[in-house]
Amino acid sequence: MQKYNLKKLATSGVADLIPYQPGLAAQQLMRQYQLTHVIKLASNENPLGPSPLVTERLQQISPQHIARYPESNANDLKNSLSDALSVSANHITIGNGSNEILEIIARALITEGDGITFSQYGFAVYPLIAQAMGARAHIAPAENFAHNSRALIEAIKPNTKIVFIANPNNPTGTWLHQDDLIQILERINKEVVVVMDEAYYDFVQVSGYPDSIALLKAYPNLVVVRTFSKAYGLAGLRVGYAIAHPELTDLFNRVRQPFNSNVFALIAAETALADQEHIAKSVQLVIQERDKITTALNALGLIVIPSIGNFVTVAFSKPGREIYEQLLQRGLILRPLDNYNMRDYLRISIGLPQENDTLLTVLSELKYQGMLSG
Ligand SMILES: *Cc1c(COP(=O)(O)O)cnc(C)c1O
Repeated sequence: MQKYNLKKLATSGVADLIPYQPGLAAQQLMRQYQLTHVIKLASNENPLGPSPLVTERLQQISPQHIARYPESNANDLKNSLSDALSVSANHITIGNGSNEILEIIARALITEGDGITFSQYGFAVYPLIAQAMGARAHIAPAENFAHNSRALIEAIKPNTKIVFIANPNNPTGTWLHQDDLIQILERINKEVVVVMDEAYYDFVQVSGYPDSIALLKAYPNLVVVRTFSKAYGLAGLRVGYAIAHPELTDLFNRVRQPFNSNVFALIAAETALADQEHIAKSVQLVIQERDKITTALNALGLIVIPSIGNFVTVAFSKPGREIYEQLLQRGLILRPLDNYNMRDYLRISIGLPQENDTLLTVLSELKYQGMLSG
């Protein structure tokens, strides 16, 4: 009798695919070490959570509303975004998180053998999408961990269909200047789509950061991707969106599943968008705490990559995973970066002041015990 060989059924891309490694969940760690309290600074969520108006509004959703499919076209949320961003609704695609948006873009534009270009240390989802789709990944060398526009232009090959640029980049927190983005857009083939992944847009307070939505007019091959997972505090509900030329938006809509978002997520996003006071408060907290953490880590003799996001990446003189393990035992979850070939680094999401203080106290204890260096 013939034996099953189900593994062999995988496409060539999927055969060697290592799935995305999410940050360890707090519940998992509590069970593992029998801890009653865990501080998770590993996935760049908003430590204040969503606007209080969101939880209030979600409680009012009726059973009838839940029983019905969501509005496939997500008109209400699109209209709110349209007002907030001053782009017409036919530029907007709603996704189940912006990760789904990235995948929708790839599914609409990529076939096997096409190329996808991104930077070294670029967001881990880009190589996964490329591999799963059987696309070639063209990786541009980074400069001081940051995107380098010249290297990116050089890494755009004749088969490149998409360039993914996280701005600021996760996990490095580095960013691409508007002048560099324009240089890229000017130099490349007009049929290469440049995706600006702006997951941390709301935290940005530097001058020279691209006004990418304004650039859409001059560069219809540009796509801007944003999310409600970070500053808006809705990571658990999964809402992200793309802003693009209506012709590209139409292509994205063809591959989008008809009910890819859900009733709770759509209402939560709309409510969260309306409370800009909560966003301002969250951003202010993050920036203040990011400065505090950076200064304190420097005082411990650690080098921090300058970040404009709600996280910082710090260098140790030994494998970050060893420090990660020490911290786990003490109920703190950070993010190891081995999958980025940044073995000696850990990424720290900015948490509540008390959570950050606990981390800094534990790190100084580890330093005192000689456990921070190799
Ligand atoms: C967190 C993050 C996302 C957001 O993912 P969602 O699917 O919207 O939760 C997208 N891109 C980057 C670079 C990120 O860090």
